[in-house]
Amino acid sequence: MQPETEWTVGSLLDWTAQYFVKKGCDSPRLDAEVLLAHSLKLKRIDLYARYNEDIQEDAKAKFRDLVRRRAEGCPVAYLVASKEFYSLPFFVNQDVLIPRPDTECLVDVALRIAKKENWKTILDLGTGSGCIAIALAKSLPLVKIVAVDISPKALVVASKNAIANKVADRVCFVEGDLFTPLEKGLAFDAIVSNPPYIPDSDIKDLDKDVKDYEPRLALSGGGDGFSVFDQILLGAGSRLNAGGHLFIEIGSPQEEPSRARFQAYPQFQLHPTILDGGRNPRVLHATKIVPTP
Ligand code: GLN
Repeated sequence: MQPETEWTVGSLLDWTAQYFVKKGCDSPRLDAEVLLAHSLKLKRIDLYARYNEDIQEDAKAKFRDLVRRRAEGCPVAYLVASKEFYSLPFFVNQDVLIPRPDTECLVDVALRIAKKENWKTILDLGTGSGCIAIALAKSLPLVKIVAVDISPKALVVASKNAIANKVADRVCFVEGDLFTPLEKGLAFDAIVSNPPYIPDSDIKDLDKDVKDYEPRLALSGGGDGFSVFDQILLGAGSRLNAGGHLFIEIGSPQEEPSRARFQAYPQFQLHPTILDGGRNPRVLHATKIVPTP
């Protein structure tokens, strides 16, 4: 590194982006900018107005530590304890999966139908950071959401996010395994879920940033990746109102086997698979058929 006194916002960004390239980061410049903005308590966009300014020693020390941890593989979202999802801010720590842009297509489609059909209630299974439930609640001011997670630590994060996004009065967080904590007879207009779906044999091939840092509980879908999916499918029918909607996120290679699983559930009508921003199959969508009188 150059002598301490020579670092400006611009030169430090350039140096760090180069360093992250060497360390194999996917988005080196962006990571450098987000970490430097965080260290300087600025918005990323404001870095450019200060391009030639020197950096205070305390911010530099903080930045150096973040750069080291990023180079070791820690995801930026954990380093800055936040991630944007559906244009809303979410607090994250290692107790929850980092919200992915891939999941936004689930929220998009669910919102469109919710508004048209005037949903009153939604169940979110495996809420994690709460990102799906909170994004839905934010755009649907009359809807009440029950959000379940088996991890009490994840629920601490999700509750914090509901408060920060001002929807805590309409999202009720419940600890437990999928449907088990729900009162008998309780049914919803929709069920949404991004369950863990990575097959155990694929976990070792995940990026180091994911494998070594994100909670295994939120990733591992058991031997074939479908252990949670299958439990959701088994229980969803009796927890949906007639005509109610089910949305489940899947891994892209799972489209065919996941759709095939619906054949055992004739009470569901399966709709076309929802594609994510990268045009990959991402969310299965089905409705509970309204019984004919
Ligand atoms: N989309 C995540 C990943 O590929 C996995 C999320 C999940 O298992 N629900 O890392």
